[in-house]
Amino acid sequence: MPVLFVGHGNPMNAIQDTVFSTVWDALGPRLPKPKAILCVSAHWLTPGETRVSVTAQPKTIHDFSGFPFPLFEQQYPAPGAPGIARQVLDMVDARRIIADDERGLDHGAWCVLGRLLPAADIPIFQLSLDYRLAPRDHYQVARQLKPLRKQGVLIMGSGNIVHNLRAMRSDAPPYDWAVAFDGKMAEFIDRGEDAAVVNFKNLGEQANTAHPTWDHLLPLIYVLAQRDEADRVHFFNTGFDLASISMRSLILTGC
Ligand code: ZN
Repeated sequence: MPVLFVGHGNPMNAIQDTVFSTVWDALGPRLPKPKAILCVSAHWLTPGETRVSVTAQPKTIHDFSGFPFPLFEQQYPAPGAPGIARQVLDMVDARRIIADDERGLDHGAWCVLGRLLPAADIPIFQLSLDYRLAPRDHYQVARQLKPLRKQGVLIMGSGNIVHNLRAMRSDAPPYDWAVAFDGKMAEFIDRGEDAAVVNFKNLGEQANTAHPTWDHLLPLIYVLAQRDEADRVHFFNTGFDLASISMRSLILTGC
């Protein structure tokens, strides 16, 4: 099974045909059909513990405000995957990992999947981000998910490689610092230098500007940790939205 990191950006990508969402439309039919999907989204942060959603029928969560009404009407009625999700509880040794039987799907998951796999017929579950863990600890948690891929589970990280909402501006080219940080991350990923991505804070001020908070970069760490030697990296949607959001996405695949 391939592994996916998707830059989700603006939730409106779910309902508008943009240069990004139309690529999601085209990619979905080319993916092998997974047994289940595990989404690690920037929008499920649980400081102090890692949660695994074991919900049988997850609700679509509209976890944003200030968007047009049609976005709040969107539903992604895929079933949950409580069996595999409970397996993850045994598979992963994290500081504290617990089941969550109420959690629905946040927009990091459904905005992308609504375009990528619109039939919503593949069981899905999510793993939260313990926001008190350091990035290197997230990498250790992520490595333990590797058996899932062999079982036919599609692991999808959903975040953004550059994500600074305060700096957003329309009708302007991307900032120099955004292009520079995005380019460095792409080089690290291309060369298989996961440690350099995990230690992104070493890039100093550039990293702090690209990520005033880390939530949108952490899902990338979960994807890179799944890489096998035979995998190749293919980037897509390599562009920026609103000058300060990198939409760069990638697929790891052995063929
Ligand atoms: Zn987001």
